[in-house]
Amino acid sequence: MTLKVAVLTGAGISAESGVPTFRGQGGLWKSFRPEELATPEAFRKDPAIVWEWYLWRRSLIAKAEPNEGHLGLVELESMLGDNFLLITQNVDGLHQKAGSKRLVELHGNIWKVRCLSCGAVYEDRRVQSKELPPRCKECGGLIRPDVVWFGEPLPIEALEKAVSWASSCSIFVSVGTSALVYPAAELPYIAKRSGAKVVEINPEETPVSEIGDVIIREPASKGIRKLLRML
Ligand code: NAD
Ligand code: ZN
Repeated sequence: MTLKVAVLTGAGISAESGVPTFRGQGGLWKSFRPEELATPEAFRKDPAIVWEWYLWRRSLIAKAEPNEGHLGLVELESMLGDNFLLITQNVDGLHQKAGSKRLVELHGNIWKVRCLSCGAVYEDRRVQSKELPPRCKECGGLIRPDVVWFGEPLPIEALEKAVSWASSCSIFVSVGTSALVYPAAELPYIAKRSGAKVVEINPEETPVSEIGDVIIREPASKGIRKLLRML
């Protein structure tokens, strides 16, 4: 049987690059919680403060370099080619920076914006702005980060591809995700039900631990190295 591997990553894989996760230490910003800022309601109420938070997050991510975990997944991709898919919940773009090509972003990308007036989507890499909220370069309308906020649907194409891979892979690896944010959190269960072996790499226990066939209780960098030796 050919090995077909799908890997789901979450904020934990970027933690060793200095990008804070939502849950866990370093998650606070000016006494706001992500659940209060990463929502369409928060943006309607106060787009400037939401933008301020995103610019702060961008400034942290801009300084970050991919770590051994990201790089290990690039290796896995070059080993498996078409039989590999990376599914990420991260918006930081560090997988691409590491060299991953076969990936879907379930929650968008923090380096892109979308205009609420004309619908333009384009790259925007600034980490500060005099004008808050910043405006669309095409039409002057209000722009928002092109990411998925709490309560919003996921991009349908990306989600369908992820579900199709979860249903058809032989090994499903969940790395650095708390597996609490749906529908991404459903993917390991879909894989398990479809007969895949489920691997978890996370220093902490998560709901996936219960269905995991292999549990690697290590940070992503060490854990992915271990996985590469096992395959
Ligand atoms: P999360 O913050 O809910 O969970 C992080 C998980 O990573 C925890 O289970 C933790 O135990 C684990 N972890 C911490 N350090 C680790 C390490 N070194 N190696 C492996 N695992 C480690 O993150 P989530 O599950 O991705 O879900 C929250 C949402 O937050 C996602 O939708 C994502 O879009 C967004 N988010 C993204 C980023 C990013 O792009 N870097 C950062 C924060 C939040
Ligand atoms: Zn516009």
